[in-house]
Amino acid sequence: MLMESMQSAKLNSFWRRSAGWLVLALLGGVIQAKPPESRPSPIHGVKLYLNQDDLQAKYPDYGKLLDELGDAGVNAVFTTFFEGKKAFYDSRILPQRDSAIDLLKFRAEAQRKKIQVGAICHIFYDADTLKDRPDLVVVDQHGDATYANWQQFVCPSDPAYRAYKLGIVQEIARTIRPDILSLDFMRFPTTWEIIPANTKADELRNFCFCARCLTQFEKQAGLKLPTELDTTPKKAQWILKGHAQAWERWKTGTITTFVAAASKAVKAIDPKIKISVHVVPWTQATFDRGITRIAGQDVKALGKHVDYLSPMLYHKLIGQPTAYIHTLTAELQRQSGKGILPSLQFAQVEAEGEVSPAEFKEALGYALQAPSSGTLLYHWSELRLDPTAPPLRMEKRMIFKAGAPFGKTR
Ligand SMILES: [Zn+2]
Repeated sequence: MLMESMQSAKLNSFWRRSAGWLVLALLGGVIQAKPPESRPSPIHGVKLYLNQDDLQAKYPDYGKLLDELGDAGVNAVFTTFFEGKKAFYDSRILPQRDSAIDLLKFRAEAQRKKIQVGAICHIFYDADTLKDRPDLVVVDQHGDATYANWQQFVCPSDPAYRAYKLGIVQEIARTIRPDILSLDFMRFPTTWEIIPANTKADELRNFCFCARCLTQFEKQAGLKLPTELDTTPKKAQWILKGHAQAWERWKTGTITTFVAAASKAVKAIDPKIKISVHVVPWTQATFDRGITRIAGQDVKALGKHVDYLSPMLYHKLIGQPTAYIHTLTAELQRQSGKGILPSLQFAQVEAEGEVSPAEFKEALGYALQAPSSGTLLYHWSELRLDPTAPPLRMEKRMIFKAGAPFGKTR
């Protein structure tokens, strides 16, 4: 009691002393009123796939879906705008239409509810196109063209395919005007999700040694492959042994030039649309610069053309501690000078084990730590209220909500 009354007396005296200054300060504030801070609040987002897990059927009413997203503490939703040849909006380019999904309507509803929309655009992943274009199948350094899992990558060097995807990106910018346009599978193939952390750097599959890529590489590097090299493995070995730097430059150039063109085209349509690019969750040290050498993602070069880089930081899936989330976020920010949006796993993705609430809290803490620009959770089906979901999901949902920029007031 005594302590309390002493503190109260101190406070009273403080207020008396401060009152005069306070009035002056308030008046000063009125006179020198500044415009409100224009820096956007951090992104507290989720990835959401309406064409998966029956989500479209569960949410025929987008208003209900967006209210649920808002209730979970979400201020940005990143969703796929097409898959393969199938559009989730009225497209004049994509030949098929999933008539159940209407992303123009979703966009308008989200705008009313002040939830940002990120349009995820798959660039070099397109199983539908590969069915008609076997020449777009990627080839590794062993001459192996088989796909390791569901990820059917497309060779990044074909001018016609690149123009087709660029057209889709422009169409989405023009017709839907998302807040953010997010370039996904914007890389040379690598199945980073299933590569064990202890894999040796030279054991990673290195793409793409198809005939078209080899011709382009020769032209751009000013090199001529010796005619006696009669197989793909021999050609690949000649390049990787003697001309590895030129090969890497050609790969990163192939990726960066697409990002640059997409960014320029989108900003010409609407400079307010932000550009994001998904990057593999590797530091420069991981797999001996695997991010540039294997994925062809030159972070510094990409930074010149985008607003955000979004690493898929599913730490448990890739066998990393939670602190790695901050390590990579800080490294990418230093290299690119741009906003970093680490994407986190909310639950188990493959068979790496469940993410406990304590671990999730730690991961989220690292993801939101400066210099991060927010976070993106993978993915809404795990986060949504579902009576059959285990209690730990609810616990993690509350942790995510508490970490939202508006968490406690909403
Ligand atoms: Zn190729």
